[in-house]
Amino acid sequence: MQKPVIVVHGGAGTWQPERKSAGLAGVKEAAAAGFDVLRAGGSALDAVESAVVTMENNEIFNAGHGSTLTIDKRIEMEASIMDGKTLNAGAVGLLRNIKNPTRLARIIMEKTDHVFIIGEGAEKLAGLFKLEIASPFTELRRRYWAETMEKLMRGDHDYLPKLHKLAASNPQLFDLGTVGAAALDKDENLAAATSTGGFSLKFPGRIGDSPLIGCGTYADNEAGASSTTGIGEIAVKLVLAKNACDSMRNGETAQEAAESSIRLVNRRMSGGSMGLITLDVAGRIGAAHNSRNLCWAYMTPKTRHPKTALTARIVEETT
Ligand code: ASP
Repeated sequence: MQKPVIVVHGGAGTWQPERKSAGLAGVKEAAAAGFDVLRAGGSALDAVESAVVTMENNEIFNAGHGSTLTIDKRIEMEASIMDGKTLNAGAVGLLRNIKNPTRLARIIMEKTDHVFIIGEGAEKLAGLFKLEIASPFTELRRRYWAETMEKLMRGDHDYLPKLHKLAASNPQLFDLGTVGAAALDKDENLAAATSTGGFSLKFPGRIGDSPLIGCGTYADNEAGASSTTGIGEIAVKLVLAKNACDSMRNGETAQEAAESSIRLVNRRMSGGSMGLITLDVAGRIGAAHNSRNLCWAYMTPKTRHPKTALTARIVEETT
């Protein structure tokens, strides 16, 4: 067994040249932050929270500060976290101004009897626990919004049901910079967390995969841990993070489970853009995607520094 281990992602989709090096630096920083927690004897839960918070604070990622805009120019952030030891979980959605949605997800997990709280209620809870408030709007996201809206208004492209066509003509719309992490600690506990601004130009009120336990995030000490990124509706329909964990429960390694999950996407969802990271109970790491990129990093006791990449195993097969 290899432990402790952290694996993080900063989103699938297409990483534009202007964001590549900052994205790699961002996942490196996140993996290092999570690993520091683990090395000091901290829990997998603390490690994934710390890694994801680092990326929420980094405007290059579509999570927390730097979240993508809805079609009517709002920001509605989502996040979730799960403890593989107890199967406790917390999730938030429709947040407008909480600096670190993942911290609020953890508060929901630990301080309430609920799993998922959205909008006003969630923000009220954030107030009770004195979480920091911050505007998540950035110039980069406003520019992306204006560019894609202009095309939309000109009728230059089809809209969301035609995702492939849209992706081809508007790659920046698909720089799916959701963030996530999975960790295994010294006590062999697993945890996972995911945070996002959601899908670019999403309809207000839309909830994606990232805050849904089993879809965007899952962790179970008996199976493995996973965080997904890509077109949320696909991960919701396939309950993708849980699917990957079930594959590990049934004996697949983390890498096999990541790849078989993407084959499932290719087979059942005609290959809509997706990626995921996985971690199994033996501390083996997995990452796979069918999108052009997956910005990700990992760190183990053997790697002196986090290993980073903009692609993992690109899976095109269906079976
Ligand atoms: N999965 C996210 C969503 O659909 C998007 C992403 O991965 O960037 O909300």
